[in-house]
Amino acid sequence: MRKDFTRYIVTFIIALFVVVTPLLTEASRPILIEGAMECETDVLIEKLQNPQEQRIGGWRFISGDYEGIPLVVSVTSVGMTNAAAATVLGIETYHPFAVINQGTAGGHDPALHRFDIVLGAETIDLSAWVSKRESNGADGRHIKLRPTYYDENGTEKRVIELKADSELLKAAVDEGRNYQAGKVVIGKISSSNNWNRQIDMIRFYNEKYGSSCEEMEAHAAAHICKNYKVPFLGIRIISNTEIHNEDFDPAAGTSCQQYVLEVVKSYAKNKGIRTDA
Ligand code: SAH
Repeated sequence: MRKDFTRYIVTFIIALFVVVTPLLTEASRPILIEGAMECETDVLIEKLQNPQEQRIGGWRFISGDYEGIPLVVSVTSVGMTNAAAATVLGIETYHPFAVINQGTAGGHDPALHRFDIVLGAETIDLSAWVSKRESNGADGRHIKLRPTYYDENGTEKRVIELKADSELLKAAVDEGRNYQAGKVVIGKISSSNNWNRQIDMIRFYNEKYGSSCEEMEAHAAAHICKNYKVPFLGIRIISNTEIHNEDFDPAAGTSCQQYVLEVVKSYAKNKGIRTDA
């Protein structure tokens, strides 16, 4: 009888350990926040408590706590390849709960001005296109976007748009009400390695593909997160827009980081993510 009882207690303790340990580990996994340039990452890094810096390959990662939330700031550098590589390394090294790719962008939507923020419900790859056969002359508006290829449980999938995680998006929308420097809209982020200043093409991307803004990293990071099934959101602030002749202002990078920290607080609270979990 006594032996049975002891066995019962031991089994119960082991079961409790097996169930609870992963939950605790899950709750203390970090949120990975990416930015390409110093003006897009300096505030995030400065706010970290107990910062620990690590370089992997050429990419810089700084982990630490922000108001009890475990964060990793990834300085990806500019461009799609850098963003993809840094996202793989960030996921493999830190096993983040979620990834936010954030920073500056050029406006495509005429409704947007500098300091307005786009929450990327979708991202697209504006460098992936096929043209018609044209013997001479090249009208960029004859292009058709090509898909992004990703893996889902061993099957190759192809999509034009990658969708953001709904809970991250919701936290960002909710926090948008407190943002003072401009408006916060739900939109579509276009990525490529190009900096496009042609207003006719900007209008084309906006009208044909619904593009809100352009930059050089978000879709690459979203693509990697899709393969790893890690929740992702791109958050981009308009730092320049040809449509309104507003030039690049690096101060937009600061506002974006401040807003992203508020989003992180709200998301972490909803998900119960804490260092002391
Ligand atoms: N004037 C900056 C340019 C940096 S390169 C400098 O000299 O430092 C472009 C970076 O800014 C990329 O990381 C990209 O994501 C972002 N970006 C901002 N506006 C952009 C635009 N209109 N087109 C493409 N990328 C843009």
